[in-house]
Amino acid sequence: MITIQSSDLTENQLAEIALAIQNRWGVAAFVKMHEIAVVDDDEDFPLEGPGKDSDENFEKGFKIIMERLKMDGAFVLEKVGRSKFRLLLVDHESLPTWLEETAKPKKLPDGVYECPHCGKWFDDELLLSMHTKLHYII
Ligand SMILES: [Zn+2]
Repeated sequence: MITIQSSDLTENQLAEIALAIQNRWGVAAFVKMHEIAVVDDDEDFPLEGPGKDSDENFEKGFKIIMERLKMDGAFVLEKVGRSKFRLLLVDHESLPTWLEETAKPKKLPDGVYECPHCGKWFDDELLLSMHTKLHYII
């Protein structure tokens, strides 16, 4: 399991990045509480597999993802453990517009409760609180 922590990104923004990781390597990536967890059960997974200079290597491939998402000016990926990374916001000025747009709180219709972790909508506060607990169990 590879984890990428970031306290500078919302769950929605992390979900975009998780999707890009999923598409790039064909692995499962999910978002939970300020981090992306990448399931690397695959034996030829990029972290252990190809060498540092290969595009398939996790760190190199992730840099390419950041370039495509235009995040490479604003963020740096810091390695904090063998399979632990941290995504740090280093330059507020370089934030890409898609990030600013997804960061803005959406105006919710009346009677709609939104999960702060995954953005799912509920028409009832009780249903939302039951759902929210799931994020802590997983
Ligand atoms: Zn949720």
